[in-house]
This record gives sequence, C-alpha cells and structure tokens, in this order.
Amino acid sequence: MNDKPLILRNISRIYGSVTAIAEITLEVHRHEFIAIVGPSGCGKSTLLNILSGSDKPTSGSLSREGDVRMIYQEGGLFPWLTVSENIAMGLRQNPNSSERAAQLEDLIRFIQLEDFTDQYPHKLSGGMRQRVELARALAGRVDLLLMDEPFSALDYLTRLRMRQELVRMLKERPRTVIFVTHDIEEAVQLADRVIVLTERPARIRCELKVTLPRPRSLTHPEVVSAVHHIVSEMGLEETLLEPEALEHNQIV
Ligand code: ADP
Ligand code: MG
Repeated sequence: MNDKPLILRNISRIYGSVTAIAEITLEVHRHEFIAIVGPSGCGKSTLLNILSGSDKPTSGSLSREGDVRMIYQEGGLFPWLTVSENIAMGLRQNPNSSERAAQLEDLIRFIQLEDFTDQYPHKLSGGMRQRVELARALAGRVDLLLMDEPFSALDYLTRLRMRQELVRMLKERPRTVIFVTHDIEEAVQLADRVIVLTERPARIRCELKVTLPRPRSLTHPEVVSAVHHIVSEMGLEETLLEPEALEHNQIV
C-alpha cells in the first residue's frame, strides 16, 4: 500500500471567468487528519469535489488510492430508510450476510443509538444524524473520508461532542480524513495538519502541524497558540482585540 494515498500537484479549477482554486499542491499520508480552513467562498468545497472525483481539475494532476466517501453538513442520510438501513448501506460491499449483521450491530452500539435503530432520520436530532452518517462512512472499506463542514449545522455543545465522537471513532477505525471547516478551533482540535487557504482563488497560505495527542482540550496552551497563529496568518488579528472574541478564545 502506498504511504501517500492522496497526492495533488498544481491543481487548479476555473469556472468560466472564475478561478476557484489555483495551483494547490498537497501530499497526504495514510491515516493523516488534514483540516482545511479558509474564508467562505474561497474554493474549499470545489477542492473536496475534485478530491472525491465528482469534479475535475482544469489543470494539474491528482493521484488517489482507495474508496472515498463524502460527508456533508447535513442531509446525507436516505430519509426513507431507518437508522439501521442507512448504516447497512455502508456494509453492502460485504457479501457475507451474517458478518454484515454482526458489523451493523457493532456499529450501532458504537454510536450508542441502540434505541433508535428503527427510527427515520427526521425523528433524530442533528447530532444523532451525523453520528449515523459517521457510522455509515466508517462501516465499509472506505479509506478516505472527505468531510465538508460536517458539524457546522449543529449547536455549539453538540459540535464539541461530535468532535470527541469523531476522535474516538478514528482511534478504533483509522482513516485518512480531509476535513473542511471554517472553525479554526475545530481544525486545531482535530487535525494532524491544518491547511490554511487564501481568499478565492484558494491557494495554500500556510500549514501548521499539531502534534498534541487527541483528544485535545480547547484550553491547552498549544491549542490556544495554534488558533492564534492561524487567526493572525489569516489577517484576522483585529478580531482578537474585541474583548468578546478574546474572552471566547480563552474561555472555551
Ligand atoms: P467554499 O466551499 O470555500 O465556500 P466553493 O468551493 O463552494 O467555496 O466555491 C468557490 C467559488 O467557485 C465560488 O465563487 C463559487 O461561486 C464558484 N463555484 C463553485 N462551483 C461552481 C460551479 N459549478 N460553477 C460555477 N462556479 C462555481
Ligand atoms: Mg463550501
């Protein structure tokens, strides 16, 4: 197996007169967790679509190995299928039905939704739906998870819990992850490497490695300092002068 399941060289994507991404070069290691942050509209989703193969770069080359799964903000579940049935979709590739049943049970226990197996997605909270999404994504042989602001639609506390949940899941079932978020703290809390993009067209502005073991507390000095570093790299440091923003960064 290749140690670098994902290699991008000088990837650009131009839509008519709009250049969404420009000359992005990136090598991702197996089971590395990459967070991508950047201003709204800079080209993050475009980049993920290229990584998933649903869009093609205008120029540059991409080499990708293994199965991919994209997880969106919400609405990724089949509304006409129950929790069990949705997760079972992720196990379709396994031809052995008794193995599939055992794996399904295991996954449902894993996301602690034993009491909700026969419910339909609209009956669940946003956090529960995303847990089902994660379980389905981790069910199969998918090696590469592409996550497009997966927790953005959730309330703050649920978002914090989902981060812990994701960390726990990846410990047991390691995957290569590309996680797009506009939440710098989230990026620092989760990722091995945070890639900061520029305004459109997205280029890599800087990247930052975070070596602290997970789970990571938001108040850990290394986390706080990484967040500040990125905020200042993005030219957002004025926001830190606002007392509320400062308090936010220190307290949460
Ligand atoms: P982000 O996810 O960072 O908010 P997007 O990748 O969705 O940004 O979009 C980046 C830019 O590319 C935007 O200006 C958007 O209008 C443009 N864009 C994205 N997809 C298309 C498309 N299919 N056709 C034309 N323009 C597009
Ligand atoms: Mg987007």
